[in-house]
Amino acid sequence: MRKLLILSPLVLALALGACDDTTKPAAPGGEVKTPASPAPGPPTPEDEPSDGGAEQPASEPVPPAPGPPAQPPTPPAPSPATFNHGAPGDIPAGQGHGYLDRTVWSPAMCWPLQDDAYANSQVYGHGGGMGPAGTSQCDSVNYSLPWHDTFCEARSRDNPLCAGGGTGHQGQDIRPGTCKKNLHWAVAAESGVITDVGTYTVTLTASAAPHRTYRYLHMQMAALAVHEGDTVVDGQKLGKVSNDFGGTPTTIHLHFELRAGVAGVTTDGKPVVLHTFLPPYMSLAEAYQRKLNGGTCS
Ligand SMILES: [Zn+2]
Repeated sequence: MRKLLILSPLVLALALGACDDTTKPAAPGGEVKTPASPAPGPPTPEDEPSDGGAEQPASEPVPPAPGPPAQPPTPPAPSPATFNHGAPGDIPAGQGHGYLDRTVWSPAMCWPLQDDAYANSQVYGHGGGMGPAGTSQCDSVNYSLPWHDTFCEARSRDNPLCAGGGTGHQGQDIRPGTCKKNLHWAVAAESGVITDVGTYTVTLTASAAPHRTYRYLHMQMAALAVHEGDTVVDGQKLGKVSNDFGGTPTTIHLHFELRAGVAGVTTDGKPVVLHTFLPPYMSLAEAYQRKLNGGTCS
């Protein structure tokens, strides 16, 4: 008699282990989507060999199979949208020491852009200062998945969480939906107050405890939608993603920083004190997933 091989979703997920997110348990967006397995139930006529099988002479009646009767098919529940993002801390060799921290430091924040976007390296990507020669920042590879973490990418900026001397990229770089500046809005990640507007920076301090600080870099500073001292609600437009850098322009992207409102520790036990730059990658990934799932901010 033929044996029915019934694979559970878990077995299927393991079998599909080529996904680059499989090293990371239960990461949002990293799940391997598997088709629903057929529910176990009584064998159907086409499952029975025509000769009745070795164990079951055809002349004998087939006893009723245990279990509930087969249900009519029901429409599947809408599955949540997913997107492919690389693992936190996964920075290619030669581009700095990525910092693996899975902590979702801002678990309820809004996705800080109005539209879809692509988190990846500006410096080492196409068109970047250390990127492949002769390439353009508008290359489609920069506007495609998967996301890549850029926290602790090689920089001279102070960042105590980064290995290799305590310097590195202090936030996450995110390209807007298209390679066009002054078009895509950046929005408030939390409700709060615009506590500083610099040459190419806008700082938002959340009103609710633990009063996280978010800093947005490279927006179109001449046409910001907010001023220093303004109170904003989450999801409110702040400015348009651009390449302002106080002089020589950078690539078209939003550099997004998240700083601690209170002391704590990272998943590997490193101390975090007030205003430490925190890895925003997982918070961004979860916020983006919520947006894909239809979640909205104010
Ligand atoms: Zn940056």
